[in-house]
Amino acid sequence: MESLPECLYQNGDLSDEDLKTLIETNQYDQALFALAAQRRKEYYGNDVYIRGLIELTNFCKNNCYYCGIRRDNKNIVRYRLTDEEILSCCGNGHRLGFRTFVLQGGEDAYYTDERICGIVSEIKRLYPDCAVTLSLGEKPYASYKTFFDAGANRYLLRHETANPEHYAALHPEEMSQENRKECLWNLKKIGYQVGSGFMVGSPFQITAHLIGDLRFLQQLQPAMIGIGPYMTHNGTPFKDYPNGSVPLCLRMIALLRLMFPYALIPSTTALGTAHPQGREMGLLAGANVVMPNLSPVKVRKLYELYENKICTDEEAAECRGCLQRRVASVGYQIVTNIGHVKPRKNIGKS
Ligand code: SAM
Repeated sequence: MESLPECLYQNGDLSDEDLKTLIETNQYDQALFALAAQRRKEYYGNDVYIRGLIELTNFCKNNCYYCGIRRDNKNIVRYRLTDEEILSCCGNGHRLGFRTFVLQGGEDAYYTDERICGIVSEIKRLYPDCAVTLSLGEKPYASYKTFFDAGANRYLLRHETANPEHYAALHPEEMSQENRKECLWNLKKIGYQVGSGFMVGSPFQITAHLIGDLRFLQQLQPAMIGIGPYMTHNGTPFKDYPNGSVPLCLRMIALLRLMFPYALIPSTTALGTAHPQGREMGLLAGANVVMPNLSPVKVRKLYELYENKICTDEEAAECRGCLQRRVASVGYQIVTNIGHVKPRKNIGKS
């Protein structure tokens, strides 16, 4: 009889009960990681994609209970990057071989739709060989559409947790899981390559929630799935909750690779913060993307979603070099091609 990891490798799916067994015990880890690595190799060889992360702003109107840049954290210095600074990060990144720029930030009204469209179309004009990814939170359909028409290719919006009660335990009342999911469906409808995902080990999370996350992702079928351990921050109501577990996060990466073989799965900064070799272990468990930071060093520490975040002192070139070595140390190679951008008629329109 086939083992559970083999069944998952063969069928790309398992019953909730069998997933529960895989999630809750470490006895299958070795087989799980080996099969996930094999599947990843079949789809992607040894390639690891890089995405240059630019953290636009740490102002945020939201008050998520887990996040260090939440509105009510009065103990951080807030910053915003100017258009010139953002373009300069892209120029630097382009010289270093980046062909995807991810513009991420808190939900900050300063970045109006018009401003975002101006930035996106300028990046596409200057670097027509690049993809632009946005990760700016929940917006109305019309805003997502104008960003797309300005040239944005991809949008990252983690669903955080697919369970409504768990979502309500992680967020204040004014935020709703229904709206977040609707945003994801709208992004898909518009034609974005969508990235979603969740935190592993967030407060109150149980196995059933993780299985619910996998089931939701099966409906959504996102191009990218980003997961990382929940990491605590002193300036949040969750300051006394422990960090998420690294082994559990690795197990979830392997499950994702076997259930979503085509997916882009980043080995995240949170994983690298939780363990010194976290990102390497993530790659070995099935991840195939790394996202080095291209933000100006002067603001890096201020985009503190959680404490002790790594890579806050290094220039982009050092970050890129360090990750290149880390990726090579586990037998993979960074590739600089654009990676998985569906041809679009209006690509590069500005
Ligand atoms: N505002 C955008 C949004 O809501 O999607 C993007 C910025 S938000 C800070 C990016 C991601 O950071 C969130 O989706 C969340 O999963 C992650 N994050 C926030 N606080 C975290 C924490 N304490 N530990 C781990 N990840 C965290």
